[in-house]
Amino acid sequence: MVSEKRDIRALSKEELRSFFESIGEKAFRGTQVYEWLWSKGLHSFEEMTNLSKEIRAHLNENFVINHIKVDHLQKSADGTIKNAVKLHDDLVVESVLIPTKKRTTACVSSQVGCSLDCKFCATARLKRMRNLNPDEIYDQVVAIDRESRLYHDKPLTNIVFMGMGEPLMNYKNVLESIEKITSDEGLGMSPKRIVVSTSGVPKMIKKLADDEVKFHLAVSLHSAIQETREQIMPFAKNFTLPDLREALEYWYSKTKRKITYEYIVWKGINDKWEDIEALVTFCKYVPCKVNIIEYNPIDDGEFQQASSTVIQDYIEALEHGRIPVTVRRSRGKDIDAACGQLANKQ
Ligand code: SAH
Repeated sequence: MVSEKRDIRALSKEELRSFFESIGEKAFRGTQVYEWLWSKGLHSFEEMTNLSKEIRAHLNENFVINHIKVDHLQKSADGTIKNAVKLHDDLVVESVLIPTKKRTTACVSSQVGCSLDCKFCATARLKRMRNLNPDEIYDQVVAIDRESRLYHDKPLTNIVFMGMGEPLMNYKNVLESIEKITSDEGLGMSPKRIVVSTSGVPKMIKKLADDEVKFHLAVSLHSAIQETREQIMPFAKNFTLPDLREALEYWYSKTKRKITYEYIVWKGINDKWEDIEALVTFCKYVPCKVNIIEYNPIDDGEFQQASSTVIQDYIEALEHGRIPVTVRRSRGKDIDAACGQLANKQ
């Protein structure tokens, strides 16, 4: 039977305080419960020891505490860990812990499946089943932080929204989760250590700027030629490069924060000189850096990474244009934990 009780973690602190007032209790009880739920991460009312038995019973009658469960954990030879995370309704998403010498990064999911249809991405084939709630995103971070301390002896330092899903198509919940991750009542992490990666939804990029968010933005560009981009990312027909450019200019004018462009170079798709020139031109519009990502094959070879000579041509052209460029090596490939490989395989 489906539970009629409400998920208590969907309530804001203010709503919790009002709830307690509505049952004739002091509002500060709401704050206490909020702390148990978020900064202390409890999953049962029984453990909330500063509340009376009556209050705990009352909470039990009215609410549930939905939470994720790490169902399956896989470790890669390079230290990367992939979690298959089971949600309260038995759907599964994935999150990844990526350790390097300097930092430990959590790569988290924002949707079950994805709203978009990038031809080269395994998650796109799952279609979007539902958005994750703020607590489901938050819990992925908590789980990865615990694993980082347990297996690598250090806390989590960075978070990237580069797992399953398009974060800007689940705007409200993603922002709420970041609010909790960065608040002192949550994990107290600095927003400067968070990157939200989007395929490029112009309207929502502008909204981020209007909402004065403090985290960083990455855009999966992959081509600066409209026709080519549409071929590999069909939704780009509606979210065109001129609109994207305008939104990014708006973002920069408001935030003064550089954009990171993620870019994969494929054989026969974006490996010509005109592709390189178009990228260099696009990069001049807004202060940015380019992250060339290694392609992780997901199928029978429809997409193939271009040769290292072409990648070198890209690097030289960007450097010549004074645009910072890095090449990101993939991690966790042996366990299908690398970018674009998240598709609930085990
Ligand atoms: N929807 C968001 C975040 C998830 S994808 C976005 O598009 O940015 C995270 C990154 O992985 C994106 O840059 C995406 O383009 C890239 N990616 C997708 N499939 C990939 C693959 N097979 N190999 C390498 N990177 C891939």
